[in-house]
Amino acid sequence: MSDSDSAALRVAYLNIVQGIISQILGPPPNRSRESCMRTAIVWEASPQHHKILVEDEPLQTMDRYRQDRSDKTEAGGILLGYRKGPHLHIVQVTVPQLTDRRRRFRFDRSTHHQQIALEQWHVSEKTMDYLGEWHTHPEINPSPSGVDINEWVKITNRLTKPMAFMILGLTGTIWLGLPVNNALIKCSPTTTEGPSYFEAPGD
Ligand SMILES: [Zn+2]
Repeated sequence: MSDSDSAALRVAYLNIVQGIISQILGPPPNRSRESCMRTAIVWEASPQHHKILVEDEPLQTMDRYRQDRSDKTEAGGILLGYRKGPHLHIVQVTVPQLTDRRRRFRFDRSTHHQQIALEQWHVSEKTMDYLGEWHTHPEINPSPSGVDINEWVKITNRLTKPMAFMILGLTGTIWLGLPVNNALIKCSPTTTEGPSYFEAPGD
């Protein structure tokens, strides 16, 4: 095989890999529209002072699934990123998979999302972690339902590290909660600037 053949094969292989990644994580955001899109947000759980930085890209990805039309069903996925001591840095989200069950008022996440999290954990040399879950609600001011709270209690009983739970409302309002000492604390947005402890990846 000539050098040009192997180069062409490499390009074809990379295209396939990129196709698979964009199927899993959704297409990259349209850069030309970014100016009118969201920027990163930092939430804080007081009085524990856990901080949760959500980067602009995951926010923009989730925004595509707002239930702003009556035919849009609930969507969701998991939050991926880095742990910085007690703080969470969310850099990526998974998008709805064909194996999920989606209704106007219900979203049942399939195990496919966990497989993606595991793949990202290995690809990132065990730095990109599963940090929580997100889903949409067809309401302006979203808040967790009884079903949501039961699900989250199950997850947090299984995992001992801090986790974030996000609900995206139909106009873009986000409810973000963090379980602390067996209670779910609603966090408040603080500043759009990420504090310095979020700068380097990993702990
Ligand atoms: Zn819900």
